[in-house]
Amino acid sequence: MSFRQVMLAVVKALGGFALATRLTTRGLQIICYHGISLRDEHCFQPKLFMQEDTFRERITYLKRNGYQVLSLDEALSHLYQETLPPRALVITFDDGWLGIGTKAAPLLRKYGFHSTLYVTTKDVLSQTPVFDVALRYLLWKKQDETIDLRFIGLDPETILLTSPDEIERAACRVSDISKSWDDHNRQALLLKLAEISDVEWNSDGSNPLFRLMTLEQLAKLPSKGMDLQLHTHRHRLPIDDPECVENEIINNREVLKRIVSGPFEHFCYPNGEFHPSQFPWLKKLGIKSATTCLSGFNYPNTERFALRRFLDGEHITQVEFEAELSGFLELLRKLRRVLQGRQNNELP
Ligand SMILES: [Zn+2]
Repeated sequence: MSFRQVMLAVVKALGGFALATRLTTRGLQIICYHGISLRDEHCFQPKLFMQEDTFRERITYLKRNGYQVLSLDEALSHLYQETLPPRALVITFDDGWLGIGTKAAPLLRKYGFHSTLYVTTKDVLSQTPVFDVALRYLLWKKQDETIDLRFIGLDPETILLTSPDEIERAACRVSDISKSWDDHNRQALLLKLAEISDVEWNSDGSNPLFRLMTLEQLAKLPSKGMDLQLHTHRHRLPIDDPECVENEIINNREVLKRIVSGPFEHFCYPNGEFHPSQFPWLKKLGIKSATTCLSGFNYPNTERFALRRFLDGEHITQVEFEAELSGFLELLRKLRRVLQGRQNNELP
């Protein structure tokens, strides 16, 4: 257990979390999840994938502690009308990973919790593993070893894979080389890499790892309380190209409209990257809210195109999760801002 976790456990035992809950009751919390592991993805990227048991523990905690889990639409109406109930919370998922439909959705339904899934649609249509994530996973599976670039048709060159930085460098190199390849060749590259890394990776398209749900699977979610919303078609939102932004949203919405009537008016920035110049573009496209990866609670004066979220994952321990949900970490953030402001004012 780290020093931070010990300190949080002490604060909790002394009643600090209960006090923080009373002091932060006006704020809206939005939690963000990505995928639920089908195998060992949480060991590979604990910020992106979570074990089913960990997710169950989180959801059970919300139920047991009386959090008001609202739909995003309802929560935002209450937030801006200043009628939010205490302990109001929204659960969101990004991308549309397979495990969300098969593992998270049934659990949320059991507890009667609404949620929002921001879907990126290109990989839904292609039904191939998401290339950049799968590539990094297969290189990670070879960790503590090396790889020879001959496997992608280059001259012999051995690259070390003994640290996360080396794995990332190798992934960027392979990704750059294969950028102009078509999807068929990129998937063949993954298959070859899986053979080298000794990972079970079916070539017949039945490999479930790093896939997004099919349209048929997504279509069943709204009736289970999971609302589908926008996350761009190709998981990108440039800050200097309004025409590209428009196409991303229109294409994303067009695919979702094939399976659900909508409305599609809530958005999540791919990779959490955004710029205020994008706000009027999104507004013009009929979008009413946009979520980021900035941490913090949301208040009636929070910009609706820059809503804050708590990114939960396997890397967050239960006591850290409780510290965030209680508002204790939100109070620390506020205190830090006050102290930083005072420090800046004191500068000559
Ligand atoms: Zn995403």
